[in-house]
Amino acid sequence: MTNLVRAIKEFLDERGAAIIGTVPSSEVKDALQISGTSLMEKAQSVVCFGFPLPEGIFKTAALRESHYWRAANMLYRRIDFLTLDAANFLEIKGHLSLPLFTCFPQYTERPRFIGAAQLVPVAVAAGLGGLAKCGLLLSDDFGLRLLIGGIITTANISLKRQETSVECPKDCWKCIDACPVKAISRTGKVDHESCLRHSTRNPLFTEYSRDKALREKYGFDLLLNVLGAEDHSMYTCIECVRACPKNSPKR
Ligand code: SF4
Ligand code: SF4
Repeated sequence: MTNLVRAIKEFLDERGAAIIGTVPSSEVKDALQISGTSLMEKAQSVVCFGFPLPEGIFKTAALRESHYWRAANMLYRRIDFLTLDAANFLEIKGHLSLPLFTCFPQYTERPRFIGAAQLVPVAVAAGLGGLAKCGLLLSDDFGLRLLIGGIITTANISLKRQETSVECPKDCWKCIDACPVKAISRTGKVDHESCLRHSTRNPLFTEYSRDKALREKYGFDLLLNVLGAEDHSMYTCIECVRACPKNSPKR
């Protein structure tokens, strides 16, 4: 392991990342572009890491979605800070680096709401887990409970690829069947608009985006980003994740 690879791994380990992987950016270039524009032309690698949400969040019967809302938003923020710190760490070592944030910024290609980088395929390619039938990342140790972030960089960083043969059992469709609005098809395609309408309430965004004058003045995507990020949205459904039996593989 080179000094730089060891240093970035230690940097993320020491700050609590539960799982870390890397992938050459050339292997995931489709996931790292927006409408044909690459996020970083001269990128060499992507470093990807994950933090789990505690399983108790999905087991409690009290204030179920509210617990998820608080935990997910705090973890999103923590991961985003870490992607920033890690990008700065790599730049101090001389390598241009771009944080890949958890959720925002987003842009819309209605009906799809899309993050700057598509982190799930990147995480799968980096060895953090497999692709679940519902389109989320499925981890050996944490099921569907991992939240992920990353850094795209001109540094050549290659960690030994973990062996991931994580896949859904053939006869399991629990995450898909659990969706109250049938937003996930059995092919794994997710109807983002149906999901968001059912799973998220954002009073500020709803009121502002209904106002035609404000929508025209600021644009839908700007309202979405400034009013949607972090704690402004309350989650009202997380049944797909809650249903996965692989969330507690060690119990
Ligand atoms: S969050 Fe709720 S609405 Fe969205 S896909 Fe999962 S179960 Fe369906
Ligand atoms: S509920 Fe079943 S099908 Fe869905 S992600 Fe978990 S193991 Fe896979």
